Amino acid sequence: MPFHSYEIYAARLIAKGYKVAICEQMEDPALAKGLVKRDIIRVITPGTVIESSMLADDKNNYICSIYTRKVRSRWKAGICFADISTGEAYATELTAEKMGPAIIIELCRYMPSEILINPALLDLKEVTNYVRQHTHALVELREDACYQQRVMEDAMTAQFGADWRNTCGFAQDGLVPYAFGALLGYLHETQKHGIDRIKSVQNYADAQYMRLSPVTRANLELTETMRGREKRGTLLWVLDKTETSMGKRQLRAWIEQPLVDSSVINQRLDAVEALYNANVTRADLKEALSHVYDIERLTTRILYGSATPKEVKALGDTCVYLPQVRQLARQCTTPLLQELSSAVDPLEDLLDLINRALVEDPPANLKDGGAIRAGFNAEVDELRDIMHGGKGFLSQLEAKLKEETGIPKLKIGFNKVFGYYIEVSRSYAASVPDTFIRKQTLTTGERYITPELKEHENLILEAESRSTDLEYELFSQLREAVKAHIPDLQELGRQLAALDVFVAFAQDAEEKNYCRPSFSSKNEIAVKNGRHPVVEAVLPAGSYIPNDLVMDEDTSIYLITGPNMSGKSTYMRQLALIAIMAQIGSFVPADSAKLPVFDQVFTRIGAADDLYSGKSTFMVEMSEANEALQHASSRSLVLFDEIGRGTATYDGMALAGAIIKYLHDKVGAKTLFATHYHELTELDETLLHLKNIHVGATEENGKLIFLHKILPGPADQSYGIHVAKLAGLPRA
Ligand code: ATP
Repeated sequence: MPFHSYEIYAARLIAKGYKVAICEQMEDPALAKGLVKRDIIRVITPGTVIESSMLADDKNNYICSIYTRKVRSRWKAGICFADISTGEAYATELTAEKMGPAIIIELCRYMPSEILINPALLDLKEVTNYVRQHTHALVELREDACYQQRVMEDAMTAQFGADWRNTCGFAQDGLVPYAFGALLGYLHETQKHGIDRIKSVQNYADAQYMRLSPVTRANLELTETMRGREKRGTLLWVLDKTETSMGKRQLRAWIEQPLVDSSVINQRLDAVEALYNANVTRADLKEALSHVYDIERLTTRILYGSATPKEVKALGDTCVYLPQVRQLARQCTTPLLQELSSAVDPLEDLLDLINRALVEDPPANLKDGGAIRAGFNAEVDELRDIMHGGKGFLSQLEAKLKEETGIPKLKIGFNKVFGYYIEVSRSYAASVPDTFIRKQTLTTGERYITPELKEHENLILEAESRSTDLEYELFSQLREAVKAHIPDLQELGRQLAALDVFVAFAQDAEEKNYCRPSFSSKNEIAVKNGRHPVVEAVLPAGSYIPNDLVMDEDTSIYLITGPNMSGKSTYMRQLALIAIMAQIGSFVPADSAKLPVFDQVFTRIGAADDLYSGKSTFMVEMSEANEALQHASSRSLVLFDEIGRGTATYDGMALAGAIIKYLHDKVGAKTLFATHYHELTELDETLLHLKNIHVGATEENGKLIFLHKILPGPADQSYGIHVAKLAGLPRA
């Protein structure tokens, strides 16, 4: 494939699950003796891509490494995720009775595109099935030798220094270092450059984030829709008012990982509130952020030596706005924004250097020349004078020869084989003077050279070649200078990403009338006029009917009845989305909202058949119900939509009743349970913590009118026949 378009071909091959090895000449062919030395300089794999054309701007691209083993008949695992294109790395230790689901939960937080595993992981069939059926990740089985103590220690020491255990903050006797060491080994094998980009690892504890199973994530359509797996129609889509690619990735990462520590959440909310109140500052910040380039990914390309003059100039153009960003953020007096403002380093030296070195609009490709600004380097200026002066000389020479020979159509041209030549058409062959030396015969005429022409040609070509080399050298020096700032740039990228999301949340809050949620240490919910953020966004303005959800400490279950199509599912999801929005630090679609901090959200909503894994529709329903019953705590939120409908009526009803009782007596999680089994509404007589609510509807002249309004007490019927009629079923 032509080298200049390798990215297109490589992207296709990577998408097909191949790896692409890149082989380069290792010496200058002009200087090499004999065969030019060649070597593989890099192997591109799905998890190690850095080319912007192969990466989605709004998504991180993670490579994962899992090391798992049985320690005294208990599974333990170390798992880490790294994004080579941005330099981020995360790691956690897992100990769980059921290791399969625990690993799957981590995988769906980050959705890696490549996973390195050790042979023992093959015993966890749940994980391998999940990866095969639900992800596109390339799996790389690493040999046991990659996980030996010695290999691991050497890799970690080489990357983080001898004191790595302390600087990385890894747990003693943990398995993360083995997973990380194997990842580093793999990166060394495939990348040669760029591994330095990973300067630190963030250790997270599973307990730091809300636990969301893959099913719940899918059901709630957080970042992709169930049907088309698209962004449109998801929570991410509604909230995405960010200006930068870094902000887009940060927003997605926050949505994937809601927090559970109310003080950390409140710090984020303070920042959003400050920006919400300061709308002029916010607008200025938004404008400044719109000029900010994807510094995180540029930094990686600087390290790989593949950043172009255009990209480095874009970094300079970003720096121009940094003092303004810093000062605007400082105006908001909340601690998080103050901290952020101080962490934004305006990098004045770097800006000055880039501005002096590069022209206003540098070429995308360094080989085209013309990237270095006039006045930056005396020799480049001199060579350019020769090149341009030389070319001026040629046009003068052409005019002079025309006059001397009397050939009006004589012209001076250039090709790569002969260099400069004089071309004369056949009809003037007789007028060509003897001093012209014939070089080439064409059908239309002849091409000649003269000693004078060749002398100037040498001058011009030499100047051109020297100038290209020199520009390359100068640009490489500039890249090196930028490289020295990588830690600052990495930090800067992180701060700007967070700021971008805060500004976006504040903007969302104002445009969509969201309110700041508050957290109660009591297990109570009080949402006034709550709305479903996505349904509200797609319905015509003002047509969404808001609903309250007030559940005191003493109530744990709302049994929701009401007509088909009335809005039961919407009401349930609405609460889950409000809770998740609150826990990522966003304002929420309601007039006011007081919530507990939920540790987990469970959903059984239907529509997710899993026939591939050998489970029938009803089996999936029961497995999902089981997941909630076994793992939910009194701090969890459970949404059950029509449990029990996939089997015989009385089996289903019996199961639904028993599940409600179990949740009521043993779990105590806040539960919304929608059902068409009206018989179940009598449970409120025996279950103290259960209340009936229903969605209102009325009938006028035999026509069903949906009110979409939640009211206390049970519904009288489900109006199934009416909805069937609405759907247009034949009357018979
Ligand atoms: P079923 O019992 O048949 O599954 P349901 O009661 O769960 O139905 P939903 O699927 O929640 O009904 O809602 C049906 C449609 O009603 C939604 O697609 C939405 O367009 C509309 N809707 C729901 N809630 C509201 C609301 N509060 N305001 C306006 N429209 C709503």
